[in-house]
Amino acid sequence: MPGFRDLLGDAKQRIREIDPAAAEARRGDAVFLDVREQDEYEQGIIPDTLFIPRGHLEAQIENRIPDKDRPIVVYCAAGIRSVFAADTLQELGYTDVASLTGGFGRWKNEGRDWVTPAVLNPEQRTRYHRHLLLPEIGEAGQQRLLESKVLLLGAGGLGSPAALYLAAAGVGTLGIVDMDVVDSSNLQRQVLHNVDRIGERKVDSAKKTLTDLNPDVDVVTYDVRLGADNILDIIDGYDVVVDGTDNFPTRYLLNDASLLKRIPVVHGSIFRFEGQVTVFRPYDGPCYRCLLPEPPPPELAPSCAEAGVLGVLPGIIGSIQALEAIKLLLDLGDPLVGRLLAYDALEETFRTFKVRRDPTCPTCGPDAAPIVIAEYDDLCLPHAVLADGTTTDH
Ligand SMILES: [Zn+2]
Repeated sequence: MPGFRDLLGDAKQRIREIDPAAAEARRGDAVFLDVREQDEYEQGIIPDTLFIPRGHLEAQIENRIPDKDRPIVVYCAAGIRSVFAADTLQELGYTDVASLTGGFGRWKNEGRDWVTPAVLNPEQRTRYHRHLLLPEIGEAGQQRLLESKVLLLGAGGLGSPAALYLAAAGVGTLGIVDMDVVDSSNLQRQVLHNVDRIGERKVDSAKKTLTDLNPDVDVVTYDVRLGADNILDIIDGYDVVVDGTDNFPTRYLLNDASLLKRIPVVHGSIFRFEGQVTVFRPYDGPCYRCLLPEPPPPELAPSCAEAGVLGVLPGIIGSIQALEAIKLLLDLGDPLVGRLLAYDALEETFRTFKVRRDPTCPTCGPDAAPIVIAEYDDLCLPHAVLADGTTTDH
């Protein structure tokens, strides 16, 4: 029966060890992976560390580092657990793994860079308990949400459920752009607002509701009309934009600005009993103009003010948008990139359509001219047109 020393010796034969100086040289290029326990992690880490306790390594690593050729430096406290972790990573197919000799202890003793990581306080541990139970999120994922910034275009039908759920989930900064005031006809679906807020700025009403729901969230309000003159400044620094606008000019404007800034957009739209969601990740999947290169003529575009919508529908579509935003923030699962999800409330069906990048796209195609941020005439149509020219509303 082999003992611990034999197991360690065998594992060392199979893996590569590097000292702190060699590891230091790989910062910026390699992922530093901390496999210690929570209490050790809280005491101090190498900056920009990915934290997966050894006991969760096999279950979580492929979600957290999908690219198996990505260089990884594994460390623990003294360089023992990291040997076994490196061995496991190699068994899982990771090709460039090294274990840090002497671990964090030696790193620190040599006077190298380290920081105390931000950790959740006891109230946050309780509030986000159901997230912490998911190994795919855990404390590091929750911390990441708290550090994330999502911009919502519109505090209306789609923006309301999206903002409520993003705030509840603990997305630390929510920006909200809306220039309208709360009207009684909004309350049929815009659940951020209530009768006491009629006549108030929607952004102020939204901020009150969201801050009451979760004081961890910093709500940044933009009581302005989004235009060519301000969009680049407003979206700058956000990780994801959730688009709940209902008109072409803003969608084109947002599309072009998000490509320039390389910020993913979770697009949603609703019309009568139907809704659509897709994710535009710049230069990865299609953009809005790949789906709809030009706005349709005004006679085919119904006015948004007149279009009816079933009250519950935006709750479903806006909630899916919030979910997609969280997936993007946490690198979870498969986002709706290159896929358009269409929901029909009357049939109670979801259908997914493949949508592709258009090689002749005027903004994201290989031969596209430099992007110019410009205003468009006022047009209104709720749904995108699919790449084959058909619309999904019938
Ligand atoms: Zn495109």
